[in-house]
Amino acid sequence: MVQGERIFSNSLASSLALVLLMIIAQLTVTGCSSESETSYLPKGPPIRIEVESLQEERLNYAVEFEVQGAVQIYSVSEKPILIRALEEPKVKIQVVGGKILLNDKEEPFTENPFRILSTEQPLVKMRVLPPSEDDSVNFKEYRGTLDVFFYGSQLRVINELNLEEYLAGVLGNEMGGDGFPLEALKAQAIAARTFTLYNMRRDFDPNGEISPDLAYKSSMEFQSYGGMTKENDRILQAVRETSGLVLTYDGSLFQTYYHSNCGGATASGHFFGEQEIAPLKGVTCDYCKDSPGYSWDRTFSKQDLEGVLVAWAGAQGLKIGKLVLLKPVDAYPSQHHAYLRIVHTEGAFEMRIDRFRKLIGRHFGANNIPSGRFDVKKNEDGKTLTFTGKGYGHGVGLCQYGAAKFGESATCGKILAHYFPEAGQKKLY
Ligand SMILES: [Zn+2]
Repeated sequence: MVQGERIFSNSLASSLALVLLMIIAQLTVTGCSSESETSYLPKGPPIRIEVESLQEERLNYAVEFEVQGAVQIYSVSEKPILIRALEEPKVKIQVVGGKILLNDKEEPFTENPFRILSTEQPLVKMRVLPPSEDDSVNFKEYRGTLDVFFYGSQLRVINELNLEEYLAGVLGNEMGGDGFPLEALKAQAIAARTFTLYNMRRDFDPNGEISPDLAYKSSMEFQSYGGMTKENDRILQAVRETSGLVLTYDGSLFQTYYHSNCGGATASGHFFGEQEIAPLKGVTCDYCKDSPGYSWDRTFSKQDLEGVLVAWAGAQGLKIGKLVLLKPVDAYPSQHHAYLRIVHTEGAFEMRIDRFRKLIGRHFGANNIPSGRFDVKKNEDGKTLTFTGKGYGHGVGLCQYGAAKFGESATCGKILAHYFPEAGQKKLY
């Protein structure tokens, strides 16, 4: 394993410890607005996110970085050493087939990993080109630095930036459309900040030995990030105006889940095995009913579904007969279900409904099952089944489309108080 990354990881550990101290300090605020900010985006603790991972079969893809103006390339060794400092209008770095090319010329340096940063503009662009692809693939832009690692048959790119910058990217991916009012974006920023910090604390022990592999996947489970490409001015304003603000329950951070559209009521946190604390008990939501994806139906051939289920069961060492019936069971008051009962000619079994949704999504792509809030009926042709449902996403926590409608006339604080009842707010930094 790479010795040098510990330097960067340790700085992350110290910052996390600092955040913990700030949490202990419990500076409570009541509003939904931060102190006035003068900087472009305020600083938060650093966070590391894996933004690309190429496995063996994709290693002959070219990973291309582009930096405008001054670029510095460091080795990520015990003491980071500057390998190259270039000042050209545009610097192109390519990694392909284990070779590094700088402005189309092969470079002798083989430091692994290496870090790319721009000293002029705080961003680096990256794109991944399949071997036969022309130049049409767009670049994504990242704030902070990009670290490139080779691990035998794997290439990883990790983006290190501060939490507030990261949140702007998350909001861009999660609510980047034009239709979201500022107050809804602020509510989303606070929920995403809380969610990130809660999961950082849970997953990384700031007092223990931190693994050099320390980095989240680009879509930390349930939260997507694609660099700064989809940011807009309102998103930056929402992050700036809520800087450092988090939600708490009983003095602590909690899993502030969020989703696209609840379908009329949000699901209980029990769905994810969470304790049913007041903020995650589920609430009614009248605000998302005009949003895209509020109601849906999907029809599948029984034979196709049977094929998918037989293959899945086979991989678990189970043998199943012909598909007879699918029935969602274990409904929450919101009508989201926890399990799907699968009745076949040899018996029956139940599987978690989110697992079933993932399985269907993998096989049928866009013809997926958008939420766990549905019924299934057999059609008269005897060959097809139709799923009829409401909502988009897991349904727990903040309903983004509901918040968007609610946010036209309500403040960020009111939105959060509705979707996370009895939660408090604190300003951590
Ligand atoms: Zn809703």
